Amino acid sequence: MKKRIVLALGGNALGKGLAEQMQAVHTTASALADLIQEGHELVITHGNGPQVGMIHQAFEAASATPAHSPVLPMSVCVALSQGYIGYDLQNALRETLRARGINKTVTSLITQVRVDPRDPAFNNPDKPIGSFLSPETAQRLSQEGVNVREEAGRGWRRVVASPMPQEIIEIESIKALLAAGQIPVTVGGGGIPVVADGNQLHGASAVIDKDRASAVLAQALDADMLIILTAVEKVAIGYNTPYQKWLDRMSPKEARDYIEAGEFAPGSMLPKVEAALAFAESRPGRQALITLLEHAADGIAGRTGTVISQ
Ligand code: ADP
Ligand code: MG
Repeated sequence: MKKRIVLALGGNALGKGLAEQMQAVHTTASALADLIQEGHELVITHGNGPQVGMIHQAFEAASATPAHSPVLPMSVCVALSQGYIGYDLQNALRETLRARGINKTVTSLITQVRVDPRDPAFNNPDKPIGSFLSPETAQRLSQEGVNVREEAGRGWRRVVASPMPQEIIEIESIKALLAAGQIPVTVGGGGIPVVADGNQLHGASAVIDKDRASAVLAQALDADMLIILTAVEKVAIGYNTPYQKWLDRMSPKEARDYIEAGEFAPGSMLPKVEAALAFAESRPGRQALITLLEHAADGIAGRTGTVISQ
């Protein structure tokens, strides 16, 4: 059955550096093209952790040169990352679709997402960006006032505030593209965080979690499915412990209980499960799926991944 699917691509679908991304988007494009060929209507979203970290670092380094170029606000870094990632993704998917005789246009939209300036996240930065840091670098940055945090078993990274997405500003543009049978790439990196002030939108110093923004998007588009593609085939309880158990399905109640029990790491699996739960609960029949990119088609067919539904 043809479904409207919001599909969120994780870090492994995009790679880390320039060359890796160029390569990774081709594998990603072919998985996406399979779904399009099956007749599904896709809206593609993506993360930007390594890319926004790279952009931020590059401009920070440039500001220390005699040119004294300005340090870019985080909102501008997110905007740049949307352009850079969208450029590679839309070209790779265009090429793959054309090779299969499908003449659909893929369009990356610079997308803004409204956040609440009183969101408590602004006082508790917890969203990892950029590459992993050595403990020495992490300590030095921390002394310079940069927020860093250790990720469960994976090392140190910079962290920024990650407020809740409230509203997608360009939602009508996304609907127009879908109505025209085209493929939007949107809310890249969770969307550019903005705060509304009358008719003005001001960039906020934050990075919105792309899984949470994708759930808001999926609800606004009345999607049938939210698919979160990441580095694990299924969600686990007792993750990385001797009691680890991979889950095929969770009811909203089970998901809530596991969240309460601290089964999912903040900044990685927690926002995915929360996003999946929010979407699955928003209306009966709505399904969320968390799995690997390579298994997206199998997951839709119910053969793998972790499904969250009522
Ligand atoms: P993405 O780039 O796709 O957003 P993240 O690294 O943010 O990926 O999140 C996926 C990671 O979450 C997995 O690779 C895994 O290491 C981690 N993780 C934390 N808790 C769990 C859990 N309970 N079950 C599965 N994976 C988990
Ligand atoms: Mg993530």
